[in-house]
Amino acid sequence: MIIKNEQDMLDAGEQLALELTPGMLVFLIGDLGAGKTTLVRGILKGLGHKGSVKSPTYNLVEPYTIKNLPVFHFDLYRLMGAEELEYMGMRDYLNKESICFVEWPEKGDGLLPKPDVVIKINIYGSERELLISKYKDS
Ligand code: ADP
Ligand code: MG
Repeated sequence: MIIKNEQDMLDAGEQLALELTPGMLVFLIGDLGAGKTTLVRGILKGLGHKGSVKSPTYNLVEPYTIKNLPVFHFDLYRLMGAEELEYMGMRDYLNKESICFVEWPEKGDGLLPKPDVVIKINIYGSERELLISKYKDS
């Protein structure tokens, strides 16, 4: 899918939200500035979130409760290692009740469970290509 601008990315997120269910782990892969956080912003809006969505770049995780659904938005870009992931209580977030989004899952390679959805964003100037893969048996 080709995304022409930021608004398109937000709209794509809102659409995608309709397909997500509790327990899902969603990976977002793409360079800095690809639009991973923008897409999550759209998804959270689609799930019914009214407030702002800030990038979890420094905190590594931002928690939300959206209509009783616990949602965790991770950005592992600055992750130092397995201990830090452990310290964050990552394992506690990944359960059947919550939805987790992970930017830079590569940084947690080998430490994260298999994702249910992988979203890859490629940059072509001001356009973005969105590639979405879903895995049934994870
Ligand atoms: P990431 O989380 O992948 O680092 P962000 O979502 O924080 O990226 O930022 C994406 C930036 O790219 C925003 O400043 C946004 O305005 C800009 N942008 C330009 N074109 C697009 C597009 N087609 N889709 C999404 N974002 C775009
Ligand atoms: Mg980001």
